[in-house]
Amino acid sequence: MIGVRYPDEYAVKETFQLLKIPWEWYDPSKDCDDYEVLIGKKEDFSSKDGNLIDISKDDIFKKVTDLLNCGKPHNSAPLCEKYLNELKNKLKQFTTLVEIPPIPWDYSYIVALTHDVDVTSVRERSWLSIGYAIYNCILDLNFVDGARIFLAKFGLLKDPWNKFEEWIKIESELGVRSTFYFIPFKDIPGIDSPKIIAGKYELDKDLINRLIKDGFEVGVHGIDNWRDQKRAREEFKKLSEFTNLDVGNRTHFLLRNEDTWKILDACGYMYDSTFGYNDDVGFRAGTLQVYKPKEVENLLELPLHIQDGALFMRPCLKLPEDEAKDRCDEIFDFANEFGGVITLLWHQMSLAVPHDWGNFYRYLVRKASKEGAWVTRAVDVVKWFEVRRNVRLDCTEKDNKLRIRLDGFKILEDIPAMRLRIYVDPEKIRGVDGKYIAKGDHVDVMCDKGEIMVALDESF
Ligand SMILES: [Zn+2]
Repeated sequence: MIGVRYPDEYAVKETFQLLKIPWEWYDPSKDCDDYEVLIGKKEDFSSKDGNLIDISKDDIFKKVTDLLNCGKPHNSAPLCEKYLNELKNKLKQFTTLVEIPPIPWDYSYIVALTHDVDVTSVRERSWLSIGYAIYNCILDLNFVDGARIFLAKFGLLKDPWNKFEEWIKIESELGVRSTFYFIPFKDIPGIDSPKIIAGKYELDKDLINRLIKDGFEVGVHGIDNWRDQKRAREEFKKLSEFTNLDVGNRTHFLLRNEDTWKILDACGYMYDSTFGYNDDVGFRAGTLQVYKPKEVENLLELPLHIQDGALFMRPCLKLPEDEAKDRCDEIFDFANEFGGVITLLWHQMSLAVPHDWGNFYRYLVRKASKEGAWVTRAVDVVKWFEVRRNVRLDCTEKDNKLRIRLDGFKILEDIPAMRLRIYVDPEKIRGVDGKYIAKGDHVDVMCDKGEIMVALDESF
């Protein structure tokens, strides 16, 4: 068993939620040799202690949870997964490592597809924002589409900014479903915010019910819920009419402060997916996993990794398509290496001119599907991680048999199974009471029950 001694309970628990390996708090009344390995600061253990991973100079619990909660600007790598991997490699020297990696059975990693609905039509927008769109068309020498936007404002052409039908068509062709975050109230820019950022549409009940019926998720595109509890409740209530209690949030403009997660949690939001960059792509939270921020009861954060505007817009990265592909490929490579989830944000009107970013979206979804990813709605991803988080792993070794218990194990409909990864030489395995695959230095067993037995060779 792995024993841990460290003063910050949240930091340890959350780090082990990402690691998902068996562990327990160090019990000073026990003999240190009762533990296969201990993790903590050397000064906190007596000198006769056994195998110790000393974190005095390299405090993994602090490094991981600082990233999850405070983030890091312009960070292009999943640093948490890198730190966790280093720790796992150290642990392997002392114990037979067993983990539930963030990789669903039958898949290589996960992609969450999301759309923020800032705009639903040309006609609802002010001349200022239409002028800006036309100006962008002119900069791109696209005069025809500039004229189309102008004429649509008068209702003389089909609205080029209402793309819901096209989204349904594209995602049906790709065989996937996604999440749409709607602004709950019309004409409210938010406390102390400029008028121009207000949503200009009323919630269209028929549209929302149709999306839900077709298998899409709808959530809140929060205006004030990041800073005001009363408003957070109102915004929650408005969308929960459609979704019951599974309400997810992504705040408009990715606004947040240090109280945001606590406010959302207190109001019953199931998850938030705001922690990402407006002006870059990558790993603000340093992770590919869904996690629980500090001082919340239930709320989970699904970090955001790639958004359309950050890749292509002035004054953000404004990358040409091939460079944008390189940046995204890099992020997908990390998911292939570590598993976990990549969250994409493509705005409702990104399919429209002047943006026209639909083909790039198709490229990313096809790439993920080709690489064996589970491509799905945000809520599904959060539920998958929730099921994984609720399991407590326990592994005992006796008479060349590993008995692995998954307390709290649950199967959810339409959510893929988890996998148990056991780091033993596959040649030393005599039998596993379940479906499994052997690969390199480990075997992966499909988790379809609360207890799994693995029989090992006598030479183990
Ligand atoms: Zn927005």
